[in-house]
Amino acid sequence: MSARPAGPPRPAPQARPAAQYAGRVSNPSPVSPVQAAALAAGALPPVEEVRPGIWTLAVPFRGGVPDATLVYVVDGDDGALAVIDPGWSDGGELDVLTEGLRQIGRTVEDVTLIAVTHLHADHLGAAAALRRRSGAPIAMHPAEVHALEHARADAEQNERDARTWGVPDDRLDGVLAAWGSGRQLGQGTVEAPFADLLLGDGDRLPIPGRDLRVLWTPGHTGGHVCFVDEPDGLLFTGDHVLPRINSGIGLGGRTESNPLRDSLDALTALEPFADFEVCPGHEYRFRDVVTRARTLAAHRDERTRHVAAALDALDHPTVFEVASRVPFSGGIESMSGYLLASALSQTVFHADLLGRAGELRRA
Ligand SMILES: [Zn+2]
Repeated sequence: MSARPAGPPRPAPQARPAAQYAGRVSNPSPVSPVQAAALAAGALPPVEEVRPGIWTLAVPFRGGVPDATLVYVVDGDDGALAVIDPGWSDGGELDVLTEGLRQIGRTVEDVTLIAVTHLHADHLGAAAALRRRSGAPIAMHPAEVHALEHARADAEQNERDARTWGVPDDRLDGVLAAWGSGRQLGQGTVEAPFADLLLGDGDRLPIPGRDLRVLWTPGHTGGHVCFVDEPDGLLFTGDHVLPRINSGIGLGGRTESNPLRDSLDALTALEPFADFEVCPGHEYRFRDVVTRARTLAAHRDERTRHVAAALDALDHPTVFEVASRVPFSGGIESMSGYLLASALSQTVFHADLLGRAGELRRA
């Protein structure tokens, strides 16, 4: 797909490939009726002021409005202007971002900080172009920088792993293409140095007059971060917690730790922010992040129970055989490519969480 700015209204987004949805739960209601209406209509939501001096705008990802990324713009004292997750850029164009900034009386050249929640191209993709135009530093967690630097080696190891999962022959090529060497993280969208500022847990973003604290929330990727704006009661969650989509885990660089364990801990880490307004990377702003985080954690626990039951019932099964007994929405029989690879990879994480990865037969 090619990138396409906001065009004519598109059909309302249909259910995504089922594995990405938590399913069977009620989703939090939107804070912003404008964003919810735009999402329902398949249109990009307009620029909206969230708090005085803090705006959101949407940038389409590979032309797909349902996949639009919510970009946040935060102004500070002395002309400071931070962009959180500049979104996707195809070939370095910044048209949508430029138009959004124009509507708030600013320009791309005014940007003084580019803060990125994680390395995926729909968040980081426009960062290099924005840095070139503005001179602003890119700020990211060091685990994301490590993942970008080691993307090739990680992809090769992923490919070796995926070949042991017992994927049926007719679907193996698709899995390898999406999960192995063909896998795209943020590479190709940002050139070295990938980051100019490294963000650790508890750090403050350098925005004079603002207080945005880094909260390290690994799981979706190893260096995913959220930003906590205590004075304004805002929590910028990237893809850690979205209102309707279960954004998946272990989708960044390879990590020593189990991304499932990490994600469960990082969901618990949101407990202090029950009263905050959530500014996610996609869909719409919402409240009650604690309920949403608990729903996601419960969903993951349920998956773990299914994996345990499959391991009990089968004698040294392959990863694919276990996953066939886990009720991924739609079932893995209907999945291919990236979704299938992600479901199988998650199955391994669940088995590992149970301390039972050794029972899996590597094909
Ligand atoms: Zn995303």
